[in-house]
Amino acid sequence: AGLVVSFGEMLIDFVPTVSGVSLAEAPGFLKAPGGAPANVAIAVARLGGRCAFLGKLGDDEFGRMLAAILRDNGVDDSGVTFDAGARTALAFVTLRADGEREFMFYRNPSADMLLTEAELNLDLIRKAKVFHYGSISLITEPCRSAHLKAMEVAKEAGALLSYDPNLRLPLWPSAAEAREQILSIWDAADIIKVSDVELEFLTGTDSVEDEVAMRLWRPSLKLLLVTLGEKGCKYYTKLILRSRFELIDFHGSVESFAVKQVDTTGAGDAFVGALLGKFVEDQSALQDEKKLRELLRFSNACGAITTTKKGAIPSLPNVSEAMQLMERA
Ligand code: ATP
Repeated sequence: AGLVVSFGEMLIDFVPTVSGVSLAEAPGFLKAPGGAPANVAIAVARLGGRCAFLGKLGDDEFGRMLAAILRDNGVDDSGVTFDAGARTALAFVTLRADGEREFMFYRNPSADMLLTEAELNLDLIRKAKVFHYGSISLITEPCRSAHLKAMEVAKEAGALLSYDPNLRLPLWPSAAEAREQILSIWDAADIIKVSDVELEFLTGTDSVEDEVAMRLWRPSLKLLLVTLGEKGCKYYTKLILRSRFELIDFHGSVESFAVKQVDTTGAGDAFVGALLGKFVEDQSALQDEKKLRELLRFSNACGAITTTKKGAIPSLPNVSEAMQLMERA
């Protein structure tokens, strides 16, 4: 089977033991391993795919704990390095009763930010059939250069590049900087997934209409996806030369499944993991709308299931859980 390599941050989210409180009100916190690229890696593995995670952790109890979580979940951790001088990143996260998310990051700097080009496991990157990344690793040096180098090596080796910006505004110096830097690597990707909120932020609009989404389209892209939470997702594909005379493209939306939502953390990562696990075997869905819609239905099911339990990693589905939800619908 083809290898998916997911690059970026892995950290611990500390989430309140009770729901609907502010960080200050929380009586206590639970450790929830996270970091979108790490979640994607575990999502791929749980669905039966081959996946490696590439990033840096602190050489501390939490760093070793996270590496063990990768291994226990069947993710290759041979690309993980440890920083002797910096801690594993922590984030305190809560969803307040008023629906607002509160974040407090402990990254001053954390180990993930200190990954250098020289530490990259280039052999592993060159083996990737699909190379996935976000934007948090772009925020500061030296990780930024390592991120750009890893993308370049993966691309040269012929990997399909997948990008989920995963906007975390409080980590950027300013909104303008976030927008500029996130878009600065837009042209390198083959597949990009954004959420509705990210689409609005990146385009400076309050709309997810097709005309707005198309502003994020580039000729270099093969697939642009916009996830819409419980409403499922939208897709936009490249113009394909079907015959000498006929140029086609397709776009549309695929509905998700009705579930009892408990915690949406990781839904987007499960969605991406499901997609990449399939693309690593077969990319014909990029030229076949029927196949693509089937694949997105599966990705939606995986996203939906992930919302039914607390935390990202514990709720990522296996294939039979996804199939069950799809058959029930
Ligand atoms: P997150 O940042 O929380 O991981 P996201 O904002 O990137 O997620 P969402 O749009 O929330 O991504 O969710 C990704 C996919 O998961 C959706 O496209 C949809 O298929 C599925 N999903 C999310 N929430 C629900 C829900 N309440 N009911 C059904 N499906 C859902």
